[in-house]
Amino acid sequence: MKNEYTISMGLTTVEARKRHDRFGPNELVPRKKENFLSKILHVLSEPMFLLLMAAAVIYFVLGKPRDGLIMLVFVVGIIGIEVVQEWKTDKTLNSLKQLFTPHVRVIRDGKETSILALELVPGDVMLIQEGVKIPADGIVIRQNDLCVDESSLTGEAQGVWKTEEEETTLSDDYWRKDYCYAGTLVTQGMAAVLIDKIGAATEYGKIGAMVAEAPKKTTPLQKQTRSLVRTCVIIAAALFVLVGIVTWRNIPGHTFSDRLTESILSGIALAMATIPEEFPVILTVFLSMGAWRLAKKKSLVRHLPSVETLGAVSVLCVDKTGTITMNQMVVQEVWAAHHDKSSLVHMMGLACETDAYDPMEKAMLSYCEKEGIPETHLFKGELLNEYTFTNELKMMGHIWYHDNEIIIAAKGSPESILPLCNLSSPEFLQAESRVQEMSAQGLRVIAIASAKPKDKSGIPDVITECELTLNGFVGLADPPRKSVKKDIESCAGAGIRTVMITGDNGITAAAIAKQIGMQSYDSIITGNMLENMDDAELREKVKTVSIFSRVLPEHKTRIVKAFKDNGEIVAMTGDGVNDASALKYADIGISMGGRGCEAAREAADLILMDDNFSTIVDTIKDGRRIFDNIRKAVGYVFAIHIPIAAASLLAPFLGIAPGCLLLLPLHVVLLELIIDPTCSIVLERQPPESDIMRRKPRNPKKKLLDAGLILKSILQGGAIFAASFGAYYTTLAGSPNHAPAGRSMGLAVIMLANLFLVQVNSSDHDYIFTTIKKIAKDHVMWAVNIFTLLGLIIILYSPLNEILKLAPLSAHQILTAFMLSAASVLWYEAVKLVWKVKIRMEK
Ligand code: ADP
Ligand code: MG
Repeated sequence: MKNEYTISMGLTTVEARKRHDRFGPNELVPRKKENFLSKILHVLSEPMFLLLMAAAVIYFVLGKPRDGLIMLVFVVGIIGIEVVQEWKTDKTLNSLKQLFTPHVRVIRDGKETSILALELVPGDVMLIQEGVKIPADGIVIRQNDLCVDESSLTGEAQGVWKTEEEETTLSDDYWRKDYCYAGTLVTQGMAAVLIDKIGAATEYGKIGAMVAEAPKKTTPLQKQTRSLVRTCVIIAAALFVLVGIVTWRNIPGHTFSDRLTESILSGIALAMATIPEEFPVILTVFLSMGAWRLAKKKSLVRHLPSVETLGAVSVLCVDKTGTITMNQMVVQEVWAAHHDKSSLVHMMGLACETDAYDPMEKAMLSYCEKEGIPETHLFKGELLNEYTFTNELKMMGHIWYHDNEIIIAAKGSPESILPLCNLSSPEFLQAESRVQEMSAQGLRVIAIASAKPKDKSGIPDVITECELTLNGFVGLADPPRKSVKKDIESCAGAGIRTVMITGDNGITAAAIAKQIGMQSYDSIITGNMLENMDDAELREKVKTVSIFSRVLPEHKTRIVKAFKDNGEIVAMTGDGVNDASALKYADIGISMGGRGCEAAREAADLILMDDNFSTIVDTIKDGRRIFDNIRKAVGYVFAIHIPIAAASLLAPFLGIAPGCLLLLPLHVVLLELIIDPTCSIVLERQPPESDIMRRKPRNPKKKLLDAGLILKSILQGGAIFAASFGAYYTTLAGSPNHAPAGRSMGLAVIMLANLFLVQVNSSDHDYIFTTIKKIAKDHVMWAVNIFTLLGLIIILYSPLNEILKLAPLSAHQILTAFMLSAASVLWYEAVKLVWKVKIRMEK
C-alpha cells in the first residue's frame, strides 16, 4: 500500500471515513463513561442527605407519613439541584476540553489539511515537525533530521534519531528506528509518517490502561473547604447530642417514644443547619464557571486549580517577541558594507527559508521583493545544504548552487556572525558601533554574511567553520502592541511585576522596555551572565532586574526557580519545545494557541488563543474576581447559617416545646433549597471590585475563611438571628398556639434578609445600590429574587401552608418582617461607609 502515489495523495476523504467507521476514533485511552448511578450514590453518601433521610424515616415511623413525604420531596429536590449542577459543570468542563484537543496535519485527497487527531485512521499520511506530540504509531516514509523524545514510552531520556523505513529490518530492538510511536514528542526535524496503528492498538495504547488519566488532584482550596466541612460535621454531631439531651429533659410529660423522636428531630434540624455542605459545591461551580467565562475571552484554562492560582500571581514573565510586540516585523533599516546594498539584499534573501514561516524571514523576503528580487528569481538555483538555526548558535545558513557558482549565505545575531567574518580591527569596531546604533532604536539587528567557495570541497560541515565576508546589517522593527503600556501599568498597580524575556540583544530589549514604560529598563541580565551565576546570586538579582536578554529557553527554568524561591507566584509564557519544562515549573505556564507547539501547550496551565499580553492581564484580573466571589460566597453561606443554627440551638434552652420550634427540620431543608442556588447564581456573576487591580496579589497561604471574614459573618448572621428569632418569639409569646404564625414571621424575616444579604455582600466596598445597578440588566439575578419572593408567598398563602406548619401573615406583619430583615442586614452599609472614610483619611 506504500507506493509513491499513495504517499503523495494520501487517503481520499471517502476512504478515510470508511476506515474511521471500521477502526473507530483514535483515542489512546478510551474515555470512561461517567456513571450516572455513581454520581447519585455520591450525593447519597453526604451527611446532609443522611440527616434528611433519618428525619424522613422518623416521621414515617412516628405515623406521620405526611411529614415524611414532604421530607422525601425535599430530598428529591436537593438531589435534583446537585445532579443538575454537577451535570452542568461536567458539560462545561468537557466543552472546554474539546477546545484544546490536538490537531494533526495529514495528506488527504492529495492536499495537506489539518484534522483532529481523533480522526486519524490507519493509512493516513501524517506530517510532523518539531514540537508535535505524535498521536498514533506509524512508519517513517520521509524524514529530515527527525529526532524524537520517546521517554514517555521507553523511559530513555536521550532523543532517538529516526531513519526512513528499511527494506530489511535487521535490528532486533523492540523499539524501531524507522517507526514513530504515539505519545512521543518530536524535538527536531520533520517527517512524513504512514499511520499503521491507532488508538488502543498503539504501543502507548497497550500500556494506556496503566497510565490512564492522572488522578484528579484536589486543589488547595478544595482541601481547605473539605477540612472546614469536616470540622463542621464534628461540631454538628456534638450539637446534635447536646440539643437532643436538652430537648429530652424539656418534655418529661411525654411518652418515651415521643420524647425520643422529638429529641432526635430537634437534633437533626440543628445538625442540618450546621453543616455547610454548600462549600464544596461553591468551589466547583465557581471555578468551572470561571474557566468557562475565561474561554469566551480567548483564554483556555487546562486545570481548574489554575483559576485559583491566577489571582495570586505576583510575577509575570513574558516573551518579548509576539507577546509584548506584535510579531509583525518589517525591515526598517539596512546598512551595507562597502555600500553594496544589492549584494546585502540578495544574500539576506538566500539565507531565508524557501517557504518562510518566521515573521522575520517573511519581512526579509518582502523587502527583497520591494528591492526588485522576487522569490521566484531568488530561489532559482539548487539548495545544496543548510546549516539549521539553533537557539545556541543564533544563526543559520544556506548553501546554494546557481549558475556554476556555490554561495554560502548566512544570517544571525551580530555576536555570532561577526567572529566568522574576516574583518580588520577598525572594521570590526565600526561594525559594532553600527549594531549599537541600530539596536538602540529598538530594532532587532541581523548580520548578513556570505562566502563563495570554489567547489563543493570548500563547504564546511558546520557553520562555525565558515570564513565569511560581511555583507551588512538589517534592522527589523517589531512594534510593541498598543495596549501593552497600559497593561504593564495596571499590573504594576496590582503589585504584579512584569519581566521581559527575549533572545534578542540587550540594547534592543532595553529600547523596547523603555517604549512600553517598564521600570529599570537599563539593568539587564544576559544569558551569559546567567550561566556564570549560581542560584543564590540569581535569586538576589531578580529582585531588581526585570529584563533578560540573549537567553536560551533552557535558562527560563532557572529564572522561574529564582522567583519562586523568593516566594513569588510566577506566570510564564513560552511557545517552543524547549520551554516545556519551564512552563511546567511555573505556577502558571502560559502557552500560545497560535504560535505555541503541541509540547508547550501540553505543559501549560493556560492557553492563550490570541497570543496577546492584554489577555494575560485580563485573565489574572478574572482570577482575582473569581477568588473574591468564592470568598464572598463562603462568607455569605457562613452568615446565613448562623440564624438557622442558632434558632435550633437556643429554643430548647429557652424551654420552647419541640412542636413550637422556629425551624423544624423541614424548614431547614426549605431554606437550604434557597441558599444554595442563590449564592451560586448571584455571587458567581458578580463583576470585579473597582479596586481589583489596585491591590496587592493575594497571599496564597492565607485561609479562605480568615478571622476578618469570620467576624463579619458572625456579626451579620447574629443580627439576622436577633431579628428573626425576636419576631418569632414575640409573636409566639402571646400564646403557644401561635407557633405557626410566629414561625412564619421568623421564616419570612430570614428569607427576606437572605435576599438583602446576598446584595450587601456582593461587594466589599460598593454600596448596595451600586452593586444592584451593576447587575440590574442581569435577568438571572432578578429571576432568583423573584423566585424567592414567589416561594415565600406560596408557602404562606397557599393551602401548602398547613402542610408546612405555617400561617398566613397580615399586611402589617409582612411589613414588619420586611423592615426587620432590612434593618438586620443593611447596617453593614454603614460599616462600608466607615471603611471608606478611614481609607480616605489615611491617604
Ligand atoms: P525571541 O526570544 O525574542 O523570540 P529568538 O530566540 O527567536 O528571540 O531569537 C534570538 C536571536 O536569534 C535573534 O535576536 C536573532 O539574532 C537570531 N535569530 C532568530 N531567528 C533567526 C533566523 N531565522 N535566522 C537568523 N537568526 C535568527
Ligand atoms: Mg522567537
